[in-house]
Amino acid sequence: MQTFYTDLLCIGAGLAGERAAIESAAAGFTTICLSIVPARRSHSAAAQGGMQASFGHCVMGEGDNPQVHFQDTVKGSDWGCDQEVARLFVDNAPIAIRQLAFWGVPWNRVIPGKSTYYKGGKKFEKIESVDKQGLITARDFGGTAKWRTCYTSDGTGHTVLYTMDNVAVQYGVQVHDKVEAISLIHDGVHCIGAVARCLRTGKLRTYLAKATLIASGGYGRVYKASTNAVICEGGGQLIALNTGIVPLGNMEAVQFHPTGIVPSDILVTEGCRGDGGTLLDVNKHRFMPDYEPEKAELASRDVVSRRMTEHIRKGFGVKSAYGEHLWLDIRHLGEQHLNTKLREVKEICNNFLGVEPATDLIPVRPTQHYSMGGVRTNKRGEAYGLKGLFAAGEAACWDMHGFNRLGGNSLSETVVAGLLVGRNIVEFLEGCDVTFNTVLVRNAVKKDQERIAHLMTDKNGRENAYKVRDTMQKALMEGVGIFRNEQGLTMAISRLQEVYHRSQRVSLRSNGLGANPEMSLALRLPGMVKLALCIAYGALQRKESRGCHAREDYPARNDRDWLNRTLATWQEGADLPTLNYEPASTVFELPPGERGYGGGQIISADDPTTIMVERGD
Ligand SMILES: Cc1cc2nc3c(=O)[nH]c(=O)nc-3n(C[C@H](O)[C@H](O)[C@H](O)COP(=O)(O)OP(=O)(O)OC[C@H]3O[C@@H](n4cnc5c(N)ncnc54)[C@H](O)[C@@H]3O)c2cc1C
Repeated sequence: MQTFYTDLLCIGAGLAGERAAIESAAAGFTTICLSIVPARRSHSAAAQGGMQASFGHCVMGEGDNPQVHFQDTVKGSDWGCDQEVARLFVDNAPIAIRQLAFWGVPWNRVIPGKSTYYKGGKKFEKIESVDKQGLITARDFGGTAKWRTCYTSDGTGHTVLYTMDNVAVQYGVQVHDKVEAISLIHDGVHCIGAVARCLRTGKLRTYLAKATLIASGGYGRVYKASTNAVICEGGGQLIALNTGIVPLGNMEAVQFHPTGIVPSDILVTEGCRGDGGTLLDVNKHRFMPDYEPEKAELASRDVVSRRMTEHIRKGFGVKSAYGEHLWLDIRHLGEQHLNTKLREVKEICNNFLGVEPATDLIPVRPTQHYSMGGVRTNKRGEAYGLKGLFAAGEAACWDMHGFNRLGGNSLSETVVAGLLVGRNIVEFLEGCDVTFNTVLVRNAVKKDQERIAHLMTDKNGRENAYKVRDTMQKALMEGVGIFRNEQGLTMAISRLQEVYHRSQRVSLRSNGLGANPEMSLALRLPGMVKLALCIAYGALQRKESRGCHAREDYPARNDRDWLNRTLATWQEGADLPTLNYEPASTVFELPPGERGYGGGQIISADDPTTIMVERGD
């Protein structure tokens, strides 16, 4: 069996993994990134819309600064975020984005003079000033007071990831692609690397590392309908949970994006609404201003997704063979705009729907999109529970998103967290002395070898991995979606517990050798179902509505009892996670208040009684 020794092992070669890897390699440490797919195919490449940083260069961003970005982020999170982390993030986002420009990202720039833009379907004029010519410009995105979403047309993730990968190569970061980490090696105190499986040969390898970073992206594919790539199955979160020690934070915080296209669930970017797109119902009526007079389509994602669902429930959805949907209208933006700033959207509509967005409406519905929850870390990016283990990017619950992340804040998080957590990893490595205990390593490998042998010999049963995954995905869609209640959650949990037991009785239909996707899934599956149970059980216990977590039976945001973060660990032999709670933030720079959109009620933190205050619209 091959064994690799390295200073830093990054599980993931997306934007967060590679950005942190660059810090480590630049400081002279050997650095290996693992990835299921070639690095440039990581999910970050799919991000279309842009990245938030408060430059204030463009006229619609004038007066923007980190403080305004901070307020938008905290309000967006519905006060579920760690405000110290949000502060670190907003202060460093302009630095990280400028650095990307220096590395070669072709940001769209300010062009002086008159131009038009759309808001709520209406045309407006703006004049960019000459002295800002050539500076990084920005577009409008949901939930922000100023235009601050920097972009490269609608292929932002693509250009940034390709640039990042180039820089990683320059610094000597090694990427081992088609290699999947399947368990962490640890002694209950320290993490010393991972057991991984080569997806070309099916052989196991060990990676022994002084520091290990989980940067494996989101867990969206535990849901049936998701905008996430098929590799987003929570590989990093589940190996952390499998340690029984490392907690996952706020797993119930799952974001649905308003505009997944029907039926393929591919995302069309928030930039569509930011650039002036509107949402229409079956009668071609623009309904969002009826619910959200101020922000309309540009309220935060949790709010728009809920309003769309409410409107469909009232009977205003468009019926189709694939279920009910609404329309996204970007016709008024015109050919020129669509062919430049929303070119990828146009291609997606042409290729997957046979629809021409300059003349046709786009069928959309809210679709699972982003995982706010993940491996819980402190503000330095150190995972709770194991020394030498770090997490960054969507895989982590660092936690600047709380219960709703703003569009454009996630790509920015990957590079800011990659930069800051990368520096903290360098500090850790500089003072680090590790001995790799061979017995520990052998035992970890033996466990995984046994799992593989059982799958190949039908030792535990004859369940089919694909069917088990399908049942899990449907249970989450039905019981743990946009609106949640006790009955639906309880039912989902009992179904998922049954699915969990089935996942342990899986065996293979194929021979399991070599490049075998069935084996990869079967190894991941029990961990995926555990993640699903963390989401559902966390959602059942959280008896309030906050951000994306909307309880029909507890509609108020309850700052008195639930201004906290769920921490889920998994004890051996259990079929439910153990939940603990910690304060959402130890520093409240911005005290809990109204978001300014979304409506609903708040139970005040200061008030020991059950007095409710109305939330502003
Ligand atoms: C369609 C879409 C569009 C988006 N658009 C935007 C946007 O415009 N703006 C914005 O801010 N955000 C956007 N997001 C969110 C944003 O793209 C992601 O949150 C971000 O790119 C995640 O980056 P990451 O580095 O954390 O993970 P990823 O880019 O997902 O990378 C994960 C890496 O981990 C590897 N990996 C996973 N499991 C394992 C394992 N077990 N072993 C080894 N390797 C593993 C993968 O191969 C990959 O290399 C979008 C998301 C979607 C779904």
